[in-house]
Amino acid sequence: MSGQAEHELLAALRGFVADIGALEPPPAGAPVAHLEITTGIDRAGLDLTGPVAEALVRALREYHDPRDNGRCEHCGGRRLDTHLICADCRRPNGVFGRLVMERAARHAAHGEPDTDL
Ligand SMILES: [Zn+2]
Repeated sequence: MSGQAEHELLAALRGFVADIGALEPPPAGAPVAHLEITTGIDRAGLDLTGPVAEALVRALREYHDPRDNGRCEHCGGRRLDTHLICADCRRPNGVFGRLVMERAARHAAHGEPDTDL
């Protein structure tokens, strides 16, 4: 992790806890969790009240990585590229993958090279 990314991580966590905590009516609730995080350049200890902890859980569960194109139906791998080709088993996935594999099988059955792939 680069130094900039480490600063951003800690700043984002501190900002999240402060922003969500500011929405709670006073007095602030007692912490339900304490989050310690250490990077190569800094460390933070953050007390999480119930609403902050719940908001953090929701934020983490709702995050969708733009690189996440689903799970390979052949090997279960999680690394499908934007063309839905699995980086682990190199097979195309989904309906597109089935069409490609059927076409390749037809070519192979007729002794034709599968140059269309
Ligand atoms: Zn796969």
